[in-house]
Amino acid sequence: MLDKKQIECACGGRAGEFFTDFHGFKVRGWKCRKCREEFLDPRGVAPILKLNKLIKENALKTKIGVVGNSMTLRIPKPLAEAYNLHKGEVVDYVLEKEGFMVKAEA
Ligand SMILES: [Zn+2]
Repeated sequence: MLDKKQIECACGGRAGEFFTDFHGFKVRGWKCRKCREEFLDPRGVAPILKLNKLIKENALKTKIGVVGNSMTLRIPKPLAEAYNLHKGEVVDYVLEKEGFMVKAEA
């Protein structure tokens, strides 16, 4: 069901694939053409809900580690999933006054 471009709605209508904003993230879903009900892809929603829980619990923290001469930061799994980051991906540091941001290359 989750990889289909269209799914059947409980109303008997057909729901077509669409993308929408969910807590600031673009997620995939299906919108019924008949009753307008929206179904969001749980695979896209779950990491965002986990990430929001970590933020709410003030648990989105990490310790600086050391590997050789470099310092390392671990990226929590829900954060990586919400931002679609993968092992081996190259990211940029964006330097700001209060700290730095890690940004995926476009
Ligand atoms: Zn419907």
